[in-house]
Amino acid sequence: MKKLLAAICLLFTAPLVAQVTAIKAGTVIDPSRGTILKDQVILIEQGKIKAIGSVLPIPSGAQVIDLSGEWVTAGLMDAHTHMTLTEIEGNAPFESFYLNESTTYRGMRGLHNSQALLSQGFTTLRDVGNSGEYAMSDVRRAIEQGWFIGPTIIDAGKIIAPFGGQSRNMPPHVGPFWGFEYIDADGPAEVRKAVRTNIYYGAGVIKLVADNSAYHYSLDEFRAAVEEAHHAGIPVAVHVYSGDAADNAIEAGVDSIEHGFELTDAQLKKMKDKGIFLVSTDFPRAHLDIVGTSGGILPEPAVLAPKIIDRLTRAHKMGVKLVFGTDVVVDMKGRTRADMMFDYLGVWRLAGIAPQDILRAMTSNAADLLRIEKVRGRVAEGLAADLVAMPANPLDDIEALRKIDFVMKDGKIVKGSGAVH
Ligand SMILES: [Zn+2]
Repeated sequence: MKKLLAAICLLFTAPLVAQVTAIKAGTVIDPSRGTILKDQVILIEQGKIKAIGSVLPIPSGAQVIDLSGEWVTAGLMDAHTHMTLTEIEGNAPFESFYLNESTTYRGMRGLHNSQALLSQGFTTLRDVGNSGEYAMSDVRRAIEQGWFIGPTIIDAGKIIAPFGGQSRNMPPHVGPFWGFEYIDADGPAEVRKAVRTNIYYGAGVIKLVADNSAYHYSLDEFRAAVEEAHHAGIPVAVHVYSGDAADNAIEAGVDSIEHGFELTDAQLKKMKDKGIFLVSTDFPRAHLDIVGTSGGILPEPAVLAPKIIDRLTRAHKMGVKLVFGTDVVVDMKGRTRADMMFDYLGVWRLAGIAPQDILRAMTSNAADLLRIEKVRGRVAEGLAADLVAMPANPLDDIEALRKIDFVMKDGKIVKGSGAVH
């Protein structure tokens, strides 16, 4: 009896031993520091990296994953996605998707696309709008609830833009329909209200479209957005190509310029000085040919493609902080969206950027922009165990990322042996 009582006491007083996972990694790449470490053991407990080193003892009972023939690095991030959006065909009117599809349907597409990206190595996505009535906020909530496996998502809610959003030539009797997709905000007071509206409904980043209309956002309008968003601890991303709208955004101290296809050297220099990120969305020519002019929003592909490469080369040489973002909004037959996202790597190569720097733009730089650098984006003790592995060295050829065959998200294996689904 005494023995039994002692055993019961032990049962209730002994600390619960958390399951430990041990990864035997052939090579660990930490792009943030440029370190390459051979034959490492990564110990993972409760979703986080508990320890990493070459001579770590593996606790008995640990789940052991053998990646000794693989290159392991931090989970990838894409800072410019539209997971719920698929433009049916190039040159379709931009408004056709939100007039023809329900928010519920788009939410399901958003979850489907998010899971597909996770399985190919993208463990964090920043979704910058075009999700109807906050569909991506609900996809994020459903994943956070544990109902579905999915990447970490930071979503923008509705895009804030001058009157009309990104629509073109809509007649007055159907004009209000763009309100399903955009918030009209003209003048600092309306911009503040729009930022607060998005924060209320769950936005983790504020997205402004600044120069898609005949009228552009002013310095005062940008300042209002930055002040409101930063007060709530979230960053401001601005869709802008060049010109006075880019000048105003940079001067106001927004956090990232999205696209910036025609930024001048002077604008890039000012971005570097102010620590503003460029999320460069470098469309490959083959994608531009499908997107077309996106209903008149973009220049012709033959004009735009070389400009994108030139601007990326200049930004990199000047030391602007670069973050990988793709902006894929079309489907190619027989290809996944992640396949298409990896096509962007070819543009970065054409711009003369080394694999190490590309990898940094896809991990730690992105984490800095998303304000999650203390939680994710590096292979380091105390950070989330968001890891990918592949059989070839991405520092020799960045295209190795296409062969990612192991994905771990918050310590759970989502691809490779031991996957949870
Ligand atoms: Zn976009």
